[in-house]
Amino acid sequence: MKHRFLFADADMFFVSVELAMQPTMRGLPVVVGGSSGRGVITAASYEARKFGIHAGMSGYRAHQLCPNGIFLKGNYRAYSSYSDRMFAIFRQFSPDVHVRSIDEGFAEISSCLSLFGGEEQLALQLKDSIFEQLGITVSIGIASTITLAKICLEDGKPDGLTIVPEGGQRDYLKELPIGRIPGIGPKTKLYFTKKGILHIGDLYRYTTKEELTRQVGSYGHSLWNLLQGVSTYNEASVHERKSISNENTFYEALTDRNAIEKEVMRLSEKVGFRLRKQGLKAKTIAVKIRYQNFTTITRRTTVQKYVEMDKEIFQEAWRLLQKELRSPVRLIGIGLSSFMDNEDLFSSLYEKDRKLHKAVDFVREKYGRKTIFHAR
Ligand SMILES: [Mg+2]
Repeated sequence: MKHRFLFADADMFFVSVELAMQPTMRGLPVVVGGSSGRGVITAASYEARKFGIHAGMSGYRAHQLCPNGIFLKGNYRAYSSYSDRMFAIFRQFSPDVHVRSIDEGFAEISSCLSLFGGEEQLALQLKDSIFEQLGITVSIGIASTITLAKICLEDGKPDGLTIVPEGGQRDYLKELPIGRIPGIGPKTKLYFTKKGILHIGDLYRYTTKEELTRQVGSYGHSLWNLLQGVSTYNEASVHERKSISNENTFYEALTDRNAIEKEVMRLSEKVGFRLRKQGLKAKTIAVKIRYQNFTTITRRTTVQKYVEMDKEIFQEAWRLLQKELRSPVRLIGIGLSSFMDNEDLFSSLYEKDRKLHKAVDFVREKYGRKTIFHAR
């Protein structure tokens, strides 16, 4: 079956949430970040952009450009809650939504099209629902690959809908500047320009994957898929991703608190390893505990920031579990769900997005990937 992907990206998300909460600011140059004249801008309204303000700029510079702008500190709790509500609406339109960052995600929609009467109708209804319920707009792209859907949605920003029909990628990419490929920076752009490649369509001169890879190196594989409309999306692996869990049954019920804590650490490392191996981060941590009398309880928590490291998983799991240590324990399990998808085409090219989120301390990466967490 041919896949069709719908990629949705909220327009100037942080600012939109601020405007939704305080509509009297609509039409004004509103900026999130840099409120004290220090730090960096994380989002700017279209009115503020007219002054030349953009995300990543220093607060100092932004104040110079627009002294009368409304500079807000940022309300990350609100952004996170709007994000959750936005994806909850998205999930009413597809059972298979993949969160890519706080304000963007995609879904494979070919199986639910008949319910909505087609791609365009589905997308418009989704946009309307999000706007009616949250007061923010999203731009949507629909195409046969995830990357193409993300690329094309930019055409309609803000509040737009762009559809590249099946098999239409070549016609669509033909005239598009090379810089429209996500993650292509000035350096790569210059490299392409020197080769006379100004438009994505110029890459079609390389007629095999091998030739393309020889020319552009590690991006060759992803670029080839983009050019040819090859989807590497794998439903089976997506299904496996609904949750990751491990549990352990004890021969003799555990009573010693330290022994239980150790077991929670061991299980945290196990699920953490599987999580990172799949390139995911999780937001929901669940624990399961079975007592000697075979009563089983589960407790879960959804954390503010996505977690990926053993230590973070352990902290949440142990916090939940400690409260339930009433009698000897026969089984302990830890499960992770509500994933953020890091692993995809061009995944390394999304670093820029990630850096921005890091700047606002949204995605915690306090514990680097190289950190090894030792059970004590
Ligand atoms: Mg966005």
